[in-house]
Order: sequence, then structure tokens, then C-alpha cells
Amino acid sequence: DAPLLSVDGVSIEYETRDGGRLRAIDDLSFEIDTDEILGLIGESGCGKSTVAKAVLGLLPRNGYVVDGEIQFRGVDLTTLDTTELNQVRWQHVSLISQGAMNSLNPVHRISDQIIEAIQNHDDVSNEDARARVAELFELVGLDPDRMDDYPHQFSGGMRQRAYIAMALVHDPSLIIADEPTTALDVIVQDQILKRLKELQDEFDLSILLITHDISVVAETCDRMGVMYAGKLMEYGNLRSIFDAPYNPYTLGLKNAFPSLTGDQQDLISIPGSPPDLSEVPAGCRFVERCPFATETCTTSHPPLENVGADHHSACYRHEDIEQLREQAQLRES
Ligand code: ATP
Ligand code: MG
Repeated sequence: DAPLLSVDGVSIEYETRDGGRLRAIDDLSFEIDTDEILGLIGESGCGKSTVAKAVLGLLPRNGYVVDGEIQFRGVDLTTLDTTELNQVRWQHVSLISQGAMNSLNPVHRISDQIIEAIQNHDDVSNEDARARVAELFELVGLDPDRMDDYPHQFSGGMRQRAYIAMALVHDPSLIIADEPTTALDVIVQDQILKRLKELQDEFDLSILLITHDISVVAETCDRMGVMYAGKLMEYGNLRSIFDAPYNPYTLGLKNAFPSLTGDQQDLISIPGSPPDLSEVPAGCRFVERCPFATETCTTSHPPLENVGADHHSACYRHEDIEQLREQAQLRES
């Protein structure tokens, strides 16, 4: 069976103001199956939103998919024109972004905005559309009696839920959630993620969940991809990756979050910052920050290799991984 979404060897470049080109994504491949949540994680600037936009055909005018294919149900989205893409968006794939809650129109009632979204694609009476809004409000955990409120009468969390309701209008099969809860406080964030997961389960949805917060991935996702400077460093089943990471970058990320590692004293933060994408190092993109880098690591970026069932990693030191894991634990204790 073909996966729901398959991103295959995709590279994306931005034209820069000085007329140059910046390669934001380099040879990226991943798949999402029906009914699963894939988490994409990585530091600011590693290219997460670029991936989300490319899948939805929403790259800015200076952004180009220069290589690879993005297939949704076997159709290469990179070859579709605007009209065809519009049909895919909302109907089949919808986006919830961090700022989504602020994209509700302040001068219109929330009910009217969702009704408009419904009637944009479906021939539905006002009465039926209102009933659908009430149903969607229930689904996202909002009181249907409040559907005629204006956005300013809602809290940030409620507005974000209203936007999720909007994203569900046409029963999409894939939701791309780009930092959907980042602006919200931890408790509200938690409630909304739980609700998203319940919806995913109930409606056999697939979700691409983009975040820089590894604890969000740990609690929400089935599979994950770890990105660094435009490259996928580790990818596959969430449990395998958390139980036995193969990539030093993942090790560092994981150890930087004490809540995940219990009371072990194995906190290492990763000193330094990602390379400037306009001048990436010749070797592994992580080489300058990697505590385990050797001479080999300075030659070229390592290929993504199979290291287990649904588990891939890009590193030249896979053979020494057990030793590296131990060293990572010792480093800051
Ligand atoms: P964040 O966590 O901060 O949201 P991100 O992982 O989503 O970061 P992107 O926004 O995808 O990262 O950016 C990836 C790279 O592409 C960055 O180096 C960024 O500066 C560059 N970039 C993004 N948008 C543009 C643009 N419109 N023009 C030129 N470069 C861009
Ligand atoms: Mg982003």
C-alpha cells in the first residue's frame, strides 16, 4: 500500500535578497501512513515550516522545490497548479499553525467564519452548516452556545480550538500542525494536544506535528523525525528512537529534557548553534557541535542508514553507539 503522504528526496531553496540561493531543505525523505502522528522536531531555522509549506504548496514566491517529489495518495503535489492545490488544501490536507488563532477575522462571528469555510466547498444550507458548527465545537471541546461570539471574546486556547474546528470542516485525512500550541501556556497546550490525539484516533486522521519541544513529541506522536540544518538526522518509530537513539544530535536533544529522563543526572545541553545555511560545513552538518566527531565526520554528510525496524539515522559512528550513549550520560554528571 502506498503511504498517505510520501516526501521523497526533496530539496528546497530560497532565493536570497543578494541574488544567491539558500538550500533550506536537502534531500529530505519521510512518509506518513493513514492513522498516524509523525512528529518533526528540530531547532529554530532547521526547516520545519519550510517542509509544512512545501507540502501545502504554500512556499513564498522566492521558495522552490528544486528536487524530489511530494506525493499525497500517489499524486505529486509539486506538479499541481493553484486550482488543483486549492482543492487538496482544506478538503484533504489542512494546516493549523502557531498563529492560526490570530488569523480568525476579528469583525466576524466565529460561527459565520466556520460556516463560510463549510459553504466554500460544499453546497449546504445555513441551517445545516450551523448544526455542523455546533458539532465541530463539541468535537474540539468548545461550548456550542458560544459559537456566535466574536474572536476577542475567546481566550487564546479557545481561539486555537476554534481554528482546529475550522481545519476539520471538510474531514481532511491529513492535518499539518506547525507549532499548533507553542504560544499557549503548558496546561492549555496539553489539553489541546490531547484533544487532537483523540480526534486523530476517532477519525483515522493522520497528523504531521511540527514542534521544537521534544516532550510534545514524546507524548503525542507514533513516529518522529529529527531535523538539523535542513537534514533529517534520525527518523522512525518513536519508541525505538527514545529507547535507543542512534544519532548524537538526538542524544543531546533527549538529554536536554530532564522530564523525559527522570532523575538521572545526564543533562547535556548542546553548546553552540546550527550552521548558517548559506555556508554549511563540508562534513556532517552537526560536526561542529558533536561531542563525538572524528576525522571522517568532516568529509561529507553521512547518509541516512537503517539501524533497526523503522529506525534510520545519519551518523558515521553507529558502530560505537553504545559507548557514545554511555559517554553522553557521563558528560555532565
Ligand atoms: P522555527 O522553529 O523558528 O519556526 P523552522 O524550523 O520552521 O524554524 P524555517 O522557517 O523553515 O525553519 O526556515 C528554514 C531556513 O530557511 C532558515 O534558515 C530561514 O532563514 C530560511 N527561510 C525561511 N523562509 C525564508 C524566506 N521566505 N526567504 C529566505 N529564506 C527563508
Ligand atoms: Mg517554523
